[in-house]
Amino acid sequence: MPASPPTRLERLQQLVQRLARPIEFASRDAYAHLGNVKSLGPFVSTQVLDALAGEIYPPHVETDLLGLRAVFADFDSLTDPVERRQRVEQAQAILSRLNAPDAFERVPAAQAAPAELWNLPVQFAKGVGPKRAALLARLGVSTVEDALWYIPRRYEDRASLLPIGQLVPGAAATVSGTVGRVRSNRIPRRRMTVLNVTIEDGSGALQCVYFNQPYLEDVFKPGRRIMVSGTVQAGRKGWTDLRMDVPQYEVLDDEDAPLHVGRIVPVYPETKGLTSRQLRTLIKGLLDHYLDGMTDVVPADVRLRQRLLPIRAALREAHFPQSPGDLDALNQGVTPAHRRLAFEEFFLLQLGLASQQQAVKEEAKVVRFDTATPLAGKLRALLPFRLTQAQERVLSEIQQDMASPRPMNRLIQGDVGCGKTVVALLAMVTACGSGCQAALMVPTEILAEQHYLNMRRLLEGLGLTAALLTGGGTPKARAAVRKRIEGGEVQIAIGTHALIQKHVRFARLGLVVIDEQHKFGVLQRKTLLAKGYRPDVLVLTATPIPRTLAMTVYGDLDVSVIDALPPGRKPIRTKVFEESERARAYQFALQEVRAGRQAYIVYPLVEESEKVDLRAAVEGAERLQASAFRAARVGLLHGRMKGEEKERTMAAFKAGETQVLVATTVIEVGVDVPNASVMLVEHAERFGLAQLHQLRGRVGRSAQQSYCLLLASLAAGPDGTVARRRLEALVRSGDGFVIAEEDLRLRGPGEFFGSRQWGVAEFRVANLIRDHALLEQARHEAQSLLRDDPRFSAPGHQAARDAMLRRWKTKLVLGSVS
Ligand code: ADP
Ligand code: MG
Repeated sequence: MPASPPTRLERLQQLVQRLARPIEFASRDAYAHLGNVKSLGPFVSTQVLDALAGEIYPPHVETDLLGLRAVFADFDSLTDPVERRQRVEQAQAILSRLNAPDAFERVPAAQAAPAELWNLPVQFAKGVGPKRAALLARLGVSTVEDALWYIPRRYEDRASLLPIGQLVPGAAATVSGTVGRVRSNRIPRRRMTVLNVTIEDGSGALQCVYFNQPYLEDVFKPGRRIMVSGTVQAGRKGWTDLRMDVPQYEVLDDEDAPLHVGRIVPVYPETKGLTSRQLRTLIKGLLDHYLDGMTDVVPADVRLRQRLLPIRAALREAHFPQSPGDLDALNQGVTPAHRRLAFEEFFLLQLGLASQQQAVKEEAKVVRFDTATPLAGKLRALLPFRLTQAQERVLSEIQQDMASPRPMNRLIQGDVGCGKTVVALLAMVTACGSGCQAALMVPTEILAEQHYLNMRRLLEGLGLTAALLTGGGTPKARAAVRKRIEGGEVQIAIGTHALIQKHVRFARLGLVVIDEQHKFGVLQRKTLLAKGYRPDVLVLTATPIPRTLAMTVYGDLDVSVIDALPPGRKPIRTKVFEESERARAYQFALQEVRAGRQAYIVYPLVEESEKVDLRAAVEGAERLQASAFRAARVGLLHGRMKGEEKERTMAAFKAGETQVLVATTVIEVGVDVPNASVMLVEHAERFGLAQLHQLRGRVGRSAQQSYCLLLASLAAGPDGTVARRRLEALVRSGDGFVIAEEDLRLRGPGEFFGSRQWGVAEFRVANLIRDHALLEQARHEAQSLLRDDPRFSAPGHQAARDAMLRRWKTKLVLGSVS
């Protein structure tokens, strides 16, 4: 008969036996072997963490296991036999509790009550106070929970102490010893004081040298026990003469020295007035005092499936690692402890996004659209091209949503120029076919006008009325448009933010399309709902966002991807020109213009100095018209121009009346003039890669060969090299997704979109690039939790829901969950 797998209790008892063996050995023969027991700390820690990752234990058992780990934390550095003996006795007491047949049922003597650490201002925590709290606030730490989640930036190995006699020049080392001779020399000629400290440990002596820190004489008192770490150097008198310049030091006689030496030591991001060392002491105190009250918000079944450490073990281990340290793993943030913490962050976010998605699905929608409306077929007949397969596929996904009784909330992702507009237009026409209105919202007036001009003619051919509503024009004209929208006379309203502002009322809004969503910031659905609309929503983005980021920003949307360009497009040739090659770049553009093509010349617009940049564009246009492009007609376009003026400028460029369009980044998105074949970007080094890719997407919109010229002022030296390498990424790849990944890697997620626009999730531990696989798992777990228990009624799920709301409520639209 096959043996049945061990029960949970049997497995606990096996663990206890494994741990008991070396401990028992240590206690044998009246503790005679105590001195010989090595590495008990790492051994116990590994065993305990392994057990905790593979099993869910009742809190009191978890506490005992963590207690065991704590008992041996600094065991190897203990020199006092009495103290060692006490530790062994403590461990034996815990082990016998765990070994009892009723280990799981036993009511713990004093189990810490769960505490609301997120409601506990750190100021009132033990040993903090208002002054420290003010400093901590600068680090983004305001509650005890924040402080416990304030994870080290890196770790230093101060565990392996070497005898001084074994040091070799050139290596980094940590040694401890006694301060011997101390000499302070003043060198008036060089206005310098030099402090020479000799440290001895019986195996040899080491010279430590400090410059201009005379006060260190108070630290290095002869006879004191000291630890220093730094790089060993050979002194003048041959290989036995060893020196360290300005090593890090710790005074070992200090009461809390064990926190800072003889182990892997956490290093925290500091702020003026609060050192890493102080943070270490502070956080250690908080862990000891509050950690037991912390509850796990990741449900037990998820933890078990994902083999995640309990939160208490993960936080302890992340702050004060104890398992035999792979320093690299710690510094890269890929230990089991880090993994557990990152998972929690992702999981809560994905839970929030999934809830939001669910909330949308539960809305009743105005109307189920008739996707077989003849209007769509008529529109297709008017188009000068056939849809690509990719467009057809995405369109049919949209139509399924539109025909369904649940609201659509879908993102269309696709590289610049892939043809998102026409797909959206077909969806809008479909909505009109069922007697509803559709709105197309875009981020800039120029783009709104472009869409309006392009679509009006097509729509008129179908007997539909379109209207343009932006912030421009006279109030009277705007009021008139609003009235036509409200009366239902306008079927398709195209505009900027103005479309969803206070006074605008739709007669029967059925579909909202948001173009270039990434320029808008957090989804406007909240605003739509607040106005009483429950339309289908289609979001278009031309910024190809990396998949991992899409999952955090758009985790609540269904996603369709148009993954192919219309046929016949040639890859755009891209080249970086340095300042000295400017004339050549202009020459090239002019040549294209002479051949009947058109060119954009773009100046950067940086917010802080908008006026200066504007002047650069205005003056640039004048200068170029007078010099390099004398033979061409040059137009100028920028955001400060009046609506009408912009309209005229764009129309002239579109008609080929002007051949060179000098512009600020207002043309970054949406503008579509197929005859333009040159995109010349001034100061390309000032742009993000994704943005440059967008700009480049303004050309290459026909079967003609197009070019992107990046003019860059590259500084000499490493900065210039980095900038060049960044731009080269664009030269190498025409694939927006590849570039977006690269941009994300180079700039980090916050910068990538400019957090202002995106409100991209800030994580304390998780890293979107490093942990992308974990993100997918977290998303999967969150979605399956919500599918099985949409109301979070299971007891283990409430903690997760509460934590999710604490963290994300203000950022998401959670409908019924909140
Ligand atoms: P984006 O996805 O960047 O918004 P657009 O919708 O502006 O791209 O389309 C880019 C250009 O490609 C437009 O000139 C559009 O008319 C054209 N286009 C779109 N779909 C097709 C197609 N299937 N075949 C040929 N040209 C197309
Ligand atoms: Mg577009």
